Amino acid sequence: MADKSLQTLLERYADHAGEDAIQQLRQLASLLTGQRVVHVNSTRKGGGVAEILEKLVPLMQELGIDTRWEVIEGNEDFYVCTKSFHNALQGKNIRIPETLLRVYEEVNARNAERLRPILESAEIVFIHDPQPAPLLRHCPNRIGKWIWRCHIDLSNPYRPVWKYLRNYVVDYDASIFSLDAFAQPMPHPVFIIPPSIDPLSEKNLTLAAKVVRETLEEFNIDPRRPIVLQVSRFDRFKDPLGVIHAYTLAKQFVPSLQLVLAGGGAADDPEGDVVLSEVREAAEGDPDIHVLSSGHYTDRTINALQAGADIVLQKSLREGFGLTVTEAMWKGKPVIGGNTGGIRLQLMNHRTGFLVETPEGAAMRIRYLLFERRRIGQIGHAARDLVRQNFLITRHLREYLTLMVALIHGNEDRIELG
Ligand code: UDP
Repeated sequence: MADKSLQTLLERYADHAGEDAIQQLRQLASLLTGQRVVHVNSTRKGGGVAEILEKLVPLMQELGIDTRWEVIEGNEDFYVCTKSFHNALQGKNIRIPETLLRVYEEVNARNAERLRPILESAEIVFIHDPQPAPLLRHCPNRIGKWIWRCHIDLSNPYRPVWKYLRNYVVDYDASIFSLDAFAQPMPHPVFIIPPSIDPLSEKNLTLAAKVVRETLEEFNIDPRRPIVLQVSRFDRFKDPLGVIHAYTLAKQFVPSLQLVLAGGGAADDPEGDVVLSEVREAAEGDPDIHVLSSGHYTDRTINALQAGADIVLQKSLREGFGLTVTEAMWKGKPVIGGNTGGIRLQLMNHRTGFLVETPEGAAMRIRYLLFERRRIGQIGHAARDLVRQNFLITRHLREYLTLMVALIHGNEDRIELG
């Protein structure tokens, strides 16, 4: 076996995404050699954006693109303001005081002083989410194309807040949204680039069977009996009560069935506590329902639970993309998901998983799979393949590169690849 420590990052990804996918990246990147690209966001650690950039930036560098990752620095009020933006853009009715908006603008102006030379001389600038959006205004001598990359669900924003932010975003050369349903009309080209998972991360790398078994036992889950799992925040849209209902129906036919509901803590979500106590109440008296709610699980724990399950549920009533679905599919699990949002992009009914509308529908699929065990393997295999081809970070990168090529070479009659 090749010594992994000597492999380049691209070679390590080739092990998962396939050599062809990496070759394609090299081909696209050859049109961007030496170009200066800057990504800007507001944190180096924590959250999905930082997680993606942590891998994307070194990959772009390895491909010969002169890529930097800059982080804007704010004070407490700045983060209060941008957290409110986040909630308002996802639909909450929040009025943001003028004083906080001034802090937001000042913090951006201050960061622009520091970053201007880098930003103005870059050929491509990716600004992630609303936090650094005003930087563009402070770079009047920019030479490059600027892209606003929105990771948020903007399908139903609180209008006054979106109106304020939109003012900054309209000046960009392009925007990117994660799903068609999340996008807003813009006066510039809008691109749809779905999210992705990283096969090399702690949450997705392949674990030894022993680690998986030990994790299950640590939570008193019996690895020898069938396990159905849902990993989700305790949120009504994730329908944890519907999951318990589905499990109860299926258990009539499969008495040894166990259910695991694993969810993060609800520190910033008062409703999470209410949902969690409803879940505990519904689970009471059944020792085969395991509600894991400490919220302090490592990514490796989540990974082991997903790897140890026979079937994964994501019975959401409303969903953005549904990364838990992607993660489970990558582990070769058949997923039974709610027929909503990005779950539909991932579960091709009967082929890569099942879409359901009701707890009864979910119970029927659980029963079917546990009686037709070979289908678990077949669907799991197809599921992993779908993720390999569509939802790994390498596909995400390919689409960024394609977009960059299009923006930089867009005025040419033809673009020669390779
Ligand atoms: N997750 C986690 N611990 C938990 C619950 C969720 O690490 O206790 C992770 C999960 O593995 C996934 C993400 O949080 O990577 C949730 O993303 P998804 O798109 O499924 O749902 P969201 O919470 O964004 O609505």
